[in-house]
Amino acid sequence: MDHFLYRDGVLFAEDVAVSEIAAAVGTPFYVYSTATLERHFRLFDEALAGMDHLVCYAMKAASNQAILKTLAALGAGMDVVSGGEYARAKAAGVPGERIVFSGVGKTRDEIAMALEGGIRQFNVESEPEMLVLSEVASAMGKVAPITIRVNPDVDAKTHAKIATGKSENKFGIPIAKARAVYAEAAALPGLEVIGIDVHIGSQLTDLAPFEAAYLKVAELTEQLRADGHNIRRLDLGGGLGIPYARSNEAPPLPTDYGKLIQRTVGHLGCEIEIEPGRLIAGNAGLLVSEVIYVKQGEGREFLILDAAMNDLVRPAMYDAWHDIVPLNEPEAGAEQLPYDIVGPVCESGDTFAKARMMPQLQAGDVVAFRSAGAYGAVMASEYNTRPLVPEVLVKGDHFAVIRARPSFDEMISRDTIPEWL
Ligand SMILES: *Cc1c(COP(=O)(O)O)cnc(C)c1O
Repeated sequence: MDHFLYRDGVLFAEDVAVSEIAAAVGTPFYVYSTATLERHFRLFDEALAGMDHLVCYAMKAASNQAILKTLAALGAGMDVVSGGEYARAKAAGVPGERIVFSGVGKTRDEIAMALEGGIRQFNVESEPEMLVLSEVASAMGKVAPITIRVNPDVDAKTHAKIATGKSENKFGIPIAKARAVYAEAAALPGLEVIGIDVHIGSQLTDLAPFEAAYLKVAELTEQLRADGHNIRRLDLGGGLGIPYARSNEAPPLPTDYGKLIQRTVGHLGCEIEIEPGRLIAGNAGLLVSEVIYVKQGEGREFLILDAAMNDLVRPAMYDAWHDIVPLNEPEAGAEQLPYDIVGPVCESGDTFAKARMMPQLQAGDVVAFRSAGAYGAVMASEYNTRPLVPEVLVKGDHFAVIRARPSFDEMISRDTIPEWL
């Protein structure tokens, strides 16, 4: 569910007409709904009610400071995967005890930064990383709380580029080796083993892979406890999918996911953490773009937009589908035409959709990509020296630019010319 609805034929973001924002900010831009962000966070929080838990928003999905502050105010923790994200979480006012550090290649500097500023736990991804963490923490006279990310060898049945829980993926340690690695961890100085971490992939539309993974985690918990480890926290990752096409069957609800967690690991008495990203931010954002040209091609018509793959890379990178809708609602029964919807970037991959059925559109019409809030703005670049797409946050009947479009001068002045040139 989201808060982008047509009212009298005009697309609104909460109580603001999207066309009003387009007129004020110019296209292309991302717009987020506060109400949707809050609703989705609360769905997860309520799904785990009754269990000692913390919902740690996976901020790589959408990491604007205003979004982080919105969620932090509800009590969200943050799942960070870099020093930059850690700095963002702290700048948004999230205390260290609510920040979890994930990611396959934490550097010494990043580890030191988190130990210095405070951290809930590190999710350790490999033995070499564990050794470095032990070294850095010991040298600082600190003790790093850790879970170890196990790779349960479960097929998440999602796009190959976002599956992370099979043995061929780079993530975590093989679950079969877990007992040996935990024993090693327990013997190292500067580390305190507190739990287990797992994250099998993103955009999962079925609960079965979660169930398979969590049952393996439950079994491992018992084994590690029998080995003498005080396993008291389970980080169960993120990954619950969202409906990218309104016409598709909706993926499982957070409440059912919560029940699954209760059923698979609830009896262990552990504190539960989850790290949802996409489900919190995905349907909370639109990418809004204007049609620059309608171009007649060989046997096809192209809609050339002012947004491109550098603003939203998901179609090019993951073959992702986004529903694309005009700001003015088409009349019921209006004729639909097939369009190839593309951006202006000099790459054939700069294609958002092929033969997409749309109402007839003309240059100057504005369209919105739905479900663009997660892995949208955060993956944007300035390829083709296109200014980084701005972001806008709506709350009720007001909106604010939360990241401004840079001017060409600002972009150019980031480069420096050596004095010998
Ligand atoms: C990306 C990621 C998440 C979030 O995944 P979503 O599919 O956005 O919910 C959670 N945990 C880890 C470790 C991740 O890498």
